Order: sequence, then C-alpha cells, then structure tokens
Amino acid sequence: MNIESLYHEIILDHYKHPRNKGRLPDADLHREGFNPLCGDRIELYLRVVGEKILLARFDGAGCSISQASASMLTEAVKGKSLDELRDLIQAVTRMLRGETDGSDSKLGDLEALQGVSQFPVRVKCALLPWKLLEEILQDRKGSVSPSVPAAEG
Ligand code: ZN
Repeated sequence: MNIESLYHEIILDHYKHPRNKGRLPDADLHREGFNPLCGDRIELYLRVVGEKILLARFDGAGCSISQASASMLTEAVKGKSLDELRDLIQAVTRMLRGETDGSDSKLGDLEALQGVSQFPVRVKCALLPWKLLEEILQDRKGSVSPSVPAAEG
C-alpha cells in the first residue's frame, strides 16, 4: 500500500479548494449524512430541472477524502440526467470497492479516488456523498408527484 495513491493530487486539490461548497437553501433535493467511523458530515443539495441536475452543492466537515469526494461529486453530476447519475453512482461505488480499476470512461477525474479502494477504512469516507446521492434519487423515485415541490419542514 502506498499512501501517495490515497492522497492523489486531484483529491488534495479538491480538499484545499472545494468546488460548489456552501448551502443551497432553495435546493429541490437535500440530504444530510454522517460517517461515525471517521466523524465526516456532509450535506448534499441538488437543483433539478426536468430530469437533469442543474446544480449541486455540498456543505460539511470531515477528513480530506470525504470532503474531496463530495467536491468531486458536485462537479461530476452537473448537467447529468437522473439515469446517468445512477450509472455514475454504480461506477464510483464499484471502483471504491475495488471491483473495477477505475478506467471506466464516464468517471473522468473521479478516477483519482481509485487509490482509496486500497484503504478499507477510508472507503466509507469516499462513499458517503455518493450514498447520499443514491438515497436522494431513491426518495425522488418514490414520491408520487415529483414535479410538485415537497412541503417545507
Ligand atoms: Zn473520513
């Protein structure tokens, strides 16, 4: 195991300069998650138009892997359809579990997270924002009329 494969320069860059960080109070979809093993906390906000992600933002605190993964997620999902997101979540999850080598073309910069798969304790950190995204999509699928905004509270 090589610690440099964990802290890829793309990961460090996203940690030091997080993209799309901050709350999005009028988000269409929002979910918060916590990784008790490491203390990572992430809130994910999505603005959806039709079946496409217009904007994604995140807020939170925790280790560099969790925060970088969330930052990379917000960049990766922008402009994607909900169907494309399901494919992307699956590709990222399989790579982080070490089932694939990350050479899948749809992953792009997310391939930098591939080294995390060698560190089982950190896989949960990297997966946290992706699990939130998956839960958000499942919730949305289950809602009766997705075009009508949910009631506040
Ligand atoms: Zn962590």
